[in-house]
Amino acid sequence: MLDDLLKKTKTTISFEVLSPKTQDEFNAVFEKLDALAALNPDFMSCTYGAGGSRAGKTVEMAAYIQHRLHIDAMAHMTCVGFKRADLQENCKLLEKEGIRYVMALRGDRPSTMSDEQFESREFLYASDMIRYLKANTSLSVAGVCYPEKHYEAESFESDLRHLKEKVDAGADFLVTQLFFDNDIFYRFKEKAQSFGITVPICAGIMPITGANQLGTSVNLSGSSVPKALEDIIDKYGDSKEDMHKAGVDYAVRQILDLKERGVDGIHIYTMNRPKTTAEIVAQI
Ligand code: FAD
Repeated sequence: MLDDLLKKTKTTISFEVLSPKTQDEFNAVFEKLDALAALNPDFMSCTYGAGGSRAGKTVEMAAYIQHRLHIDAMAHMTCVGFKRADLQENCKLLEKEGIRYVMALRGDRPSTMSDEQFESREFLYASDMIRYLKANTSLSVAGVCYPEKHYEAESFESDLRHLKEKVDAGADFLVTQLFFDNDIFYRFKEKAQSFGITVPICAGIMPITGANQLGTSVNLSGSSVPKALEDIIDKYGDSKEDMHKAGVDYAVRQILDLKERGVDGIHIYTMNRPKTTAEIVAQI
């Protein structure tokens, strides 16, 4: 349960699922949610399509997870593409569906959005949305954080100062951007504590099971790739099967180390892949 994370009573395991881009993918996603739920995570979070075109789908998936699969669901929302009135509407929908957890994000500018539209958003930063949600709803709210700093931040310190603002605005817990080097996470956690950030922090783990992933999701995340992972890709990248196995193994080793060091939660970026997620869960 997500409450275990908030009370720090155990290391939670949670899954992030992607809100599909097309109606066909959306129709097929429920089977994947079923398979992921069978792995018994403490909670599942549903992303929100960049720019806000598919808010309804996020809530629909979250409601399915909450009521049909009986697993705590968290719906993501972004400042980009979300006006105050949309947020109020969405909160009503969440309340109606009995969803108690949201992740509040700023979001990125979609390629189809002008700078002017992006700059004119009503909530400028995630902390503005969090403050609003905490003042006007009874939702538990998560924010995100970046062990290697957010790509726009001037410095690691300024990013942490803004992270502290996010926590002061009411973030109940944090989930990290994906990372591949646990030492980076441990250093970040220590530094966050020195800024007075003591809410639970879930470590975001993405298994790299194909060499091409490094060119897409990882590039976008701004996460660095340590030599150990580079070596794995060099060695196994040409064989689909071997790369899959080595990537799962790398994620498992990361998770076991994090658990041993008492991490609050592990948040697996599942990329809607139940088979890979099941292989990881079986070993942790
Ligand atoms: P913020 O916390 O608002 O920070 C953005 C930048 O502004 C940072 O550089 C920060 O240092 C700076 N900043 C913050 N406050 C201030 C201030 N007061 N003054 C000046 N600068 C400030 N995107 C989606 O579109 N949909 C999703 O579902 C989604 N899910 C995600 C889940 C996770 C776990 C993560 C890590 C990211 C996710 N994202 C998602 C991507 C996210 O929207 C982007 O990374 C975005 O660029 C930043 O969002 P944020 O909430 O961290 O922004």
